[in-house]
Amino acid sequence: MPDKWIPQEIEPKWQQRWEASGLYRARIDHSRPKHYALTMYPYPSGDLHIGHWYAMVPSDTRARWMRMRGYNVLFPMGFDAFGLPAENAAIKHKIHPKQWTYANIERMRKQLRSMGAMFDWERECVTCDPEYYRWTQWFFLKLYDAGLAYKKLSPVDFCPTCNTTLAREQVWGEDRHCERCNTLVVKRNLEQWFFRITAYAEELRDFSKLDWPERVVAMQRNWIGERSEGAEVIFRTEQGDHPLPVFTTRPDTLWGATFMVLAPEHPLVAELTTPERRAEVEAYVEQARRLADIMREAADREKTGVFIGAYAINPVNGQRIPIWIADYVLMTYGTGAIMAVPCGDQRDFEFAQKYGLPIPVVVAPRDWDGQPFSQAYEGPGIMVNSGPFSGFPTIGKYRLEEWTPELAQQYGLPAQLTSQNEGRHAVTRWLESKGLGKFAVAYKLRDWLISRQRYWGAPIPMITCPKCGIVPVPYHDLPVLLPEDVEFMPTGESPLKFHAGFRRVQCPRCGGEAERETDTMDTFMCSSWYQYAYMHKNWRAGEPVGPDAIPFDPVEGDYWLPVDQYTGGIEHATMHLLYTRFFTKAMRDMGLVKFDEPMLRLFNQGLILGEDGEKMSKSRGNVVAPDDLVQQYGADVVRGYLMFGFRWEQGGPWSSTGVLGIQRFLERVWNLVLETADLPLTGPDGSEQEAAVRQLQRRQHQTVRKATQDMESFSFNTMIAALMEFTNYLIKARETPVVHTPAWKEAIRTLLLLMAPAFPHISEELWERLGYAYSIHQQAWPEWDPELASEEIITIVVQVNGKLRDRFQAPADISEEEAKARALACAGIKKYLGDQTQFKAIYVPGRLVNLVTG
Ligand SMILES: [Zn+2]
Ligand SMILES: [Zn+2]
Repeated sequence: MPDKWIPQEIEPKWQQRWEASGLYRARIDHSRPKHYALTMYPYPSGDLHIGHWYAMVPSDTRARWMRMRGYNVLFPMGFDAFGLPAENAAIKHKIHPKQWTYANIERMRKQLRSMGAMFDWERECVTCDPEYYRWTQWFFLKLYDAGLAYKKLSPVDFCPTCNTTLAREQVWGEDRHCERCNTLVVKRNLEQWFFRITAYAEELRDFSKLDWPERVVAMQRNWIGERSEGAEVIFRTEQGDHPLPVFTTRPDTLWGATFMVLAPEHPLVAELTTPERRAEVEAYVEQARRLADIMREAADREKTGVFIGAYAINPVNGQRIPIWIADYVLMTYGTGAIMAVPCGDQRDFEFAQKYGLPIPVVVAPRDWDGQPFSQAYEGPGIMVNSGPFSGFPTIGKYRLEEWTPELAQQYGLPAQLTSQNEGRHAVTRWLESKGLGKFAVAYKLRDWLISRQRYWGAPIPMITCPKCGIVPVPYHDLPVLLPEDVEFMPTGESPLKFHAGFRRVQCPRCGGEAERETDTMDTFMCSSWYQYAYMHKNWRAGEPVGPDAIPFDPVEGDYWLPVDQYTGGIEHATMHLLYTRFFTKAMRDMGLVKFDEPMLRLFNQGLILGEDGEKMSKSRGNVVAPDDLVQQYGADVVRGYLMFGFRWEQGGPWSSTGVLGIQRFLERVWNLVLETADLPLTGPDGSEQEAAVRQLQRRQHQTVRKATQDMESFSFNTMIAALMEFTNYLIKARETPVVHTPAWKEAIRTLLLLMAPAFPHISEELWERLGYAYSIHQQAWPEWDPELASEEIITIVVQVNGKLRDRFQAPADISEEEAKARALACAGIKKYLGDQTQFKAIYVPGRLVNLVTG
């Protein structure tokens, strides 16, 4: 009897040996193809939950498999360590966010190691390390230098009771209340930093170089929105002559713009509002602050607004037009101001009707009778009352390349239209020539707001000088260290604002007294470049860097980049996965990388639910803790169940009995391998033995084929099912003399190799006990021979009432059902069966089918 399998003993032993021997250190090796496998790094919440395991274990299994197939595999791990939870925990438990975060990281490192994954810990990155965020700040400066970072007034959610700005996830419910005190939140305007991701909108809509799930591609396309072409036109205010740039897709309707609408948060509202309108305007602004953007934009909501008493000048005809505010215009969209053309836009039409504003006609259908419109006309037509352009045909929202003879006929307009004689294009060119506007393109995508009024993040490396204005921190002064002695309890302002030692700084330009930016960066900024940071460990540590530095070791980067296989949750479809693509494209344009996309292939795993089928949560009491499971069953069992119990992309409810099934499977493998390890070889003996060996090899090669195909397609559940079937087959076969042949040893060896990626500990232990050299994880994945995997072909005879009438060829393992169906389909038996529909079919396995009538 072999000793018992005790995973709690063998697993830590192997984990230590792997670490000590540097088994998973990824080193450049030009003799092998490289494979950069990346799984999303965790936030250090302090506890590795089953969702982390579910994401990481199959990723590890596949990375191990690629390694066995001859690839030089890099599989790194790190921590996304800045962010709000650390601050909240600190406020709750009166412990410093830094202390809280690093203690959690320490704990999670241990938990991650218990998984037995092939992470290369030498490359670990922690985004709150100054050596890491120095480069995050470096990226900020590079984007600023490239004209891709700018500051603008923008609203944030604010809780008047807690006196603090809130992150999106801290605003709860349809009534938008504060997560902490239930007070209804309001909007407040702050000067904030944005990245010009919209500059790459067109390219970000192109997925031709990516092998990504269709669902993620669709979500990103929808997030970015369709390209809409038009013009940016500058209106000016009558009082104060402030420029009000407006984007319009219909510059051909400019002569019909009879009022302007600003977002209630627009910075000019307070200044432009006349004293007699002030009370009403302020009440309206107050009310709009309370509404969520999504409600304000809802199409079916009645549009409301207030005249602020001020006027703008329509640049094309010099007309005074009233300025209104309305909550359906958002500050975050474009410039926060729109021109309203009631005759050409139904929403503007209804607004004009409701408030008694003029509705002159400027684009009319061909057969217009000259009467006032009863609703807006948005289609192609003829420009009227439009100064030098009256009489021009216009194609409305169509693009020139879409303009067909059929459309021309439908609208009664010329078929031959060009940018010279078509109204919308001609007006744009005219605006450009007069300096009143320019051609512009817009998307639904907004620029990326990266300012956070929070403590636990990377400080934005900018300085404001009363003399020089905004001045970037010089590159060689990075990092701008986050001070530790900060009061981070909520005050309504960025905590760094109250740290005089941090805030006050000498202006790098004039040497005078200046102030640092006190907001910190969105943590999505840290994760936009972390795949590069893994090539970076200790790269130029401590040395000052300039604008021409490279944020990773260039030799490492040349070899490993870009990421070949990325894995992670679908919840990152739009933000993280879009931001990191933006970063990579900007890096390419800075000459830092030569490729266009950061992660070539992506796979999204599903979600593990509680045993009750509900989302796991402490309050429901359905949380499955991986630490407990590892203690009870060992990591290999947990790994195996997470891959066998679910289709990876789907997930599903946890099952305790399912875990036991994997435990039994591994016990059976353990006993089978050890109990047949030392049997004497007696060799093949006679033809029956030969057939048995042939059968054993067939099963082995079929299993290799199945496991290989399943690994390729991320079908871990069916891969493990194939290993179980093979094991069951071997358990039966061990009762036969085949157990004494070299083929048996080969079959067992193959089983262990196939198990190695999914069950790294037990396979390593058995490998060693069978006397093979360390390590199983440095062996090649088994090959399958199509010849040996093919089924033996046999001849089956078909009888009708006991008399031989036909025969057919079939694989030896044909099922009874299939054999009977094939027999009935034989051409030779038709005439013997005649009209008989009542008969019995008897199958003698591997030999004959007898059809008995009557
Ligand atoms: Zn509150
Ligand atoms: Zn200065």
